[in-house]
Amino acid sequence: MVEITQQKCACEPCVCIVNVEDAIVHDGRNFCSDNCANGHADAAGCGHAGCGC
Ligand SMILES: [Zn+2]
Ligand SMILES: [Zn+2]
Repeated sequence: MVEITQQKCACEPCVCIVNVEDAIVHDGRNFCSDNCANGHADAAGCGHAGCGC
């Protein structure tokens, strides 16, 4: 049985892979950061190297 433990951040332009266990869950989707979870309302990007979301 294969368990999904990693998933791409649900933020479209985001290239980050998040551990489902420590993801920020918003509307049932997994995000890599608070910024992504709230649709970048406060700040651009997620603070992760190499990610330009
Ligand atoms: Zn990101
Ligand atoms: Zn993002």
